[in-house]
Amino acid sequence: MLRINDIIDKAQTYLPQEDLEMIEKAYIYSASVHQGQVRLSGEPYLTHPMEVAGILTNMKMDAATIISGLLHDTIEDTLTTVEQIEKEFGRDVAFLVGGLTKLSLISFGSQEERQSENFRKMILAMSADIRILLVRLADRIHNMRTLQYQPNDKRIYIARETMDIYAPLANRLGINSMRMELEDLSFQYIAPDAYNELSARVAKTNEARDRYTEEVKSIIGSELEKSSIKCRVEGRAKHLYSIYKKMHEQHINFDEVYDLIAFRVILDSDKDKTCYEVLSIVHALWKPVPGRFKDYIAMPKANNYQSLHTAVIGPYGERMEIQIRTKMMHEWAEKGIAAHWRYKEGLSFKNSEENQIKKLREVMEIQHEIKDPKEFMSNLKLALFPEEVYVFTPNGDVKSFPKGATPIDFAYSIHTDVGNQCIGAKVNKSIVPLKYKLQNGETVEVTTQTGHHPSKDWLKYVVTTRAISKIRNWINLEEKKSSLTLGRDLLEKEFKRHNLKFGNYVKSEEIKKVFIECSVNHLDDLISQVGFGRISAKRVVNCFLAEELVDVSEPVTDKIKKKKTASPSMGVSLSGVEDIEDIMVNFAKCCNPIPGDEISGYISRGRGIIVHTKNCPYMKKMDAERIVGVEWNVREEYTYPVHIKVVCDDLKGILTEVSSVISSFDINISYAQIETVDMVATCNFVIDINNLQQLNQVSSAIRQLKFVKSIERLRHF
Ligand code: MN
Repeated sequence: MLRINDIIDKAQTYLPQEDLEMIEKAYIYSASVHQGQVRLSGEPYLTHPMEVAGILTNMKMDAATIISGLLHDTIEDTLTTVEQIEKEFGRDVAFLVGGLTKLSLISFGSQEERQSENFRKMILAMSADIRILLVRLADRIHNMRTLQYQPNDKRIYIARETMDIYAPLANRLGINSMRMELEDLSFQYIAPDAYNELSARVAKTNEARDRYTEEVKSIIGSELEKSSIKCRVEGRAKHLYSIYKKMHEQHINFDEVYDLIAFRVILDSDKDKTCYEVLSIVHALWKPVPGRFKDYIAMPKANNYQSLHTAVIGPYGERMEIQIRTKMMHEWAEKGIAAHWRYKEGLSFKNSEENQIKKLREVMEIQHEIKDPKEFMSNLKLALFPEEVYVFTPNGDVKSFPKGATPIDFAYSIHTDVGNQCIGAKVNKSIVPLKYKLQNGETVEVTTQTGHHPSKDWLKYVVTTRAISKIRNWINLEEKKSSLTLGRDLLEKEFKRHNLKFGNYVKSEEIKKVFIECSVNHLDDLISQVGFGRISAKRVVNCFLAEELVDVSEPVTDKIKKKKTASPSMGVSLSGVEDIEDIMVNFAKCCNPIPGDEISGYISRGRGIIVHTKNCPYMKKMDAERIVGVEWNVREEYTYPVHIKVVCDDLKGILTEVSSVISSFDINISYAQIETVDMVATCNFVIDINNLQQLNQVSSAIRQLKFVKSIERLRHF
């Protein structure tokens, strides 16, 4: 069992004394909160965080990372809180442990393999600090090393998850040692037969291979010594999973895998040039295999791996693979991003967040110079400046969205109808508003209602192009529908004014001239343009009048019978039009017209007719071509809100007195408020009025109260 002294011994080779003390403190803390907990192996739970911290120390990580390794399970598995950790170990550690806890709360469900890329991205995005991911990987390595204690089905599940998600993540960060260990550990459980067979075959040839390895190593070593190149030569069997993959990908059997051993020349020098020198020496020793030379120094791999790779025909006529790299390249190849920090910082870590981001940015800038840095770049960027969020569907699928996406974006990503009919949303089972901004790792659910429609407001809350275009589409369609109805009515009215029938002209040849005159393509287009107020009905009629030489100076008097029944349009009808059903009618908020007021209609763009009072100052500023005659057509049950202001002496009970006068007219008060300044009280009421006459009656009754100084109908001009 790993002891704290083992960790401290290793850490003291590169960390200062105060860091060691903090690590020891974290050990004591972790031991006390995990006390009594036992792993499936029967060992005390503490062995797990200790091993994780040990792995991180071997990688020469900074103190905060090692401490986070010791504490990584405390929030989830004990009563410890993030606040306590911050108090004891500072913000940096609390941030890392908090991030780790969030990451571990994500459940992966069972999902298709193709989705793992999204999962990997989500994990990267959630690891706001790369150190979180490194602890997570160390955690997974130890769990994989002790996987035999898990029940069988869990073993396979965890192994698959490791193979699909964590090994590729380690690769992405260039941490080859971790990737290889994770792959071989998973391989053992996913395909136990293949694993056992392969490892037995590799073991059988072990002795011979060792002899062979030593021989090749000494040949290379002495040859390089002659050129006084200082280096270390390694010969190691490749990891089992890579042999297995090779057999599968190239459809060959074990005996055909020549390069089971990868030889490595690791130079003491940090000069790239020396690598090429070594290459030429090796090629002079043995004949190179054509087409197998790869220059990853000039063209590093996406994860920044650098090395020269070559294959040669060895001393016994067999192929050997040889990799040549500097010490620094080797460090990167083994430890990836974890190694990079040390080179930039020397041996001590200054791990303020800005510093770290700066360093990673440098990595990214290095990446810029690389020809094909796409993958590593975009993912590293994601980790640092997450521009995307990853959320779960209720089925456990992962969906990605641009940052700032809301449940509406989510709904449209499922189906247009789901988006259009979306009425509510839940995130992690609790209700959120539709404008809620989705966060990484959340599970999102939307509720729909048949017949529900999108609203224009939604455009403020969505960020995906899909949602934006679907909402726009719907609005355009709706506006078009209502403008068609309105346009037709306006045209009919204008035609009637000249004693003509619009319907007769629709199918005539002359109408085509009108299309050209008004630059529209077809009839619906013309009608909706009139409805939108872009073309006036008068202009359309004039086209025909000119054609038929009808005298325009004297419009035909309106002989059409006015409509007697109340229209559904809140008691307003269009002068001269029999039926204005389906036309949207809105009352202007500025002048708040009520029956009895003289009114005019204004054809708005897409909002139907807006009714203003004739004397409304806004009306005067408006495009005269779009103003239409409207008149009241009232049924008694309609009420209209009217705002009145009553100014009076400040006496007790005035509000009740005024209210009781209003109520005596059987008028509903929907809002009442009183404000007193210098013994003068101002009462504001919103009352529901049937018509102007009723308003005048109630006003004069209020005016008669002796303490009332004035009464006024308020408008918002
Ligand atoms: Mn753990």
